[in-house]
Amino acid sequence: MKDDQIKSLMNDQDKFLKTEKSKSISQRIETLEKLKASIKSHEQDIVDALYKDFQKPEFEVLTTELYVAYKELNLFIKKIKKWSKPKSISSAWLNFPSSDKIYYVPWGKILVIAPWNYPFQLAITPVIGAIACGNTVVLKPSEHAPYTADILEKIISEVFEDSQAIVIQGAVETAQILLDQKWDYVFFTGSVPVGKIVSQQIAKHMTPHTLELGGKNPCIVDASANLDSAAKRICWGKFLNAGQTCIAPDYLLIHSDIREKFQQKLVETLKDFYGDSSKASSDYARLIHASHFERLDGFLNDQKVIYGGISNAETNFISPTLVDSPDFDSPLMKEEIFGPILPLYSFTNFKDLEVTINSFDKPLSLYVFSENSSFTNQVNESFDFGGGVINDTIVHFVNDKLPFGGVGASGVGNYHGRASFDTFTRQKPIVHRKNWLDIPLKYPPYKRLDSFKSFLNLFR
Ligand code: NAD
Repeated sequence: MKDDQIKSLMNDQDKFLKTEKSKSISQRIETLEKLKASIKSHEQDIVDALYKDFQKPEFEVLTTELYVAYKELNLFIKKIKKWSKPKSISSAWLNFPSSDKIYYVPWGKILVIAPWNYPFQLAITPVIGAIACGNTVVLKPSEHAPYTADILEKIISEVFEDSQAIVIQGAVETAQILLDQKWDYVFFTGSVPVGKIVSQQIAKHMTPHTLELGGKNPCIVDASANLDSAAKRICWGKFLNAGQTCIAPDYLLIHSDIREKFQQKLVETLKDFYGDSSKASSDYARLIHASHFERLDGFLNDQKVIYGGISNAETNFISPTLVDSPDFDSPLMKEEIFGPILPLYSFTNFKDLEVTINSFDKPLSLYVFSENSSFTNQVNESFDFGGGVINDTIVHFVNDKLPFGGVGASGVGNYHGRASFDTFTRQKPIVHRKNWLDIPLKYPPYKRLDSFKSFLNLFR
């Protein structure tokens, strides 16, 4: 869509996005069922699109894109009626007699801006929550996963009327034009620098928002850890999607007593996973585009590569790579890596962990591998991070009963399951006063000061 077309569309928003707050719960459930059926009928198209976008293996599409979307759909289909019921709340004494309730109301028009790294799931999951809660949605998928953006547009246009949900494709300028409009809520997933731009842009309308961002996620391996299991779970969480995962471990902190042994286990695990040539493995994705390849390839300059480090610009390929203790001032450690390069550091005491982890912004995730619960408790209590896992990586994402989001620079707000319901609705409190009694105490002229003083004593 051309920018002038978007502008004219925006000037006439009512045509395509008049708020449909009146859609009943049963209509919303019907729409979610239709969406589920449409995704199901396009499963192969989604698999093909993700392969064309960055050679994402089919298994990873099924587990990290489709499974997550179906789970969210099923949960909302099952729960939306119950969650949407107004909640009776006990009344305040001063209002007696009254009946008080919280109503859960949709925000209205929601803009969803999505990234390229899980281009289907990270676009459709917020759309599911927003629609289930009675909002209307404009979705802007990432321009860097164009095949997936096309299939998203196809599905959304098949299922929804334009007045309910629409996909607008485009790059940065399109996103800027969309952000310039007045929205009732903005849900953004992407990088920290762009998150800051989005936050500034929507501040002029004081738009409520969620920012799902990134950061440098530490992963600690204590001397007491089960090393075989830790090596497997770290390599899986890091090199899935070729490391292009917001919650992937960014760097490892390994206790010095087990450093050599554990490093060896990581190498063996990578060979088990991808064979001697990860390039030939059909289970290993590519980087999304040339500039992302160049950025990551550049990170390897002057680094001590322990394993991997093989790259190919023509196919945007970098093999799973382990790097020994890069300088904290090197480009590799200055920003979120977001690719298949894993720096390994050693630590000897808790102070080492504090110095390293606290030298970065609060991360989106933190992982700790240890059999020592006082150590894991100390880690949990000492650091602030969006969410975490003990003895595994990234798996907190798939439990829809857990809110997912960052803290500080890694994000604002959260979603998934019930947390998505809370994000995509607003709590509207209503006090319904009754007329059969009206205690005169509060009205001027104030003659009952003593009575109120005795009443206040109940709270003193
Ligand atoms: P990005 O910030 O470059 O782009 C995200 C979206 O914002 C895209 O749709 C893009 O078109 C748009 N955009 C880009 N520049 C813009 C601008 N100046 N103004 C307005 N919109 C703009 O992010 P990306 O490269 O697509 O994704 C990778 C980043 O996203 C990583 O930092 C990763 O950690 C983060 N991420 C976070 C989560 C999460 O759930 N917290 C999930 C996935 C990715």
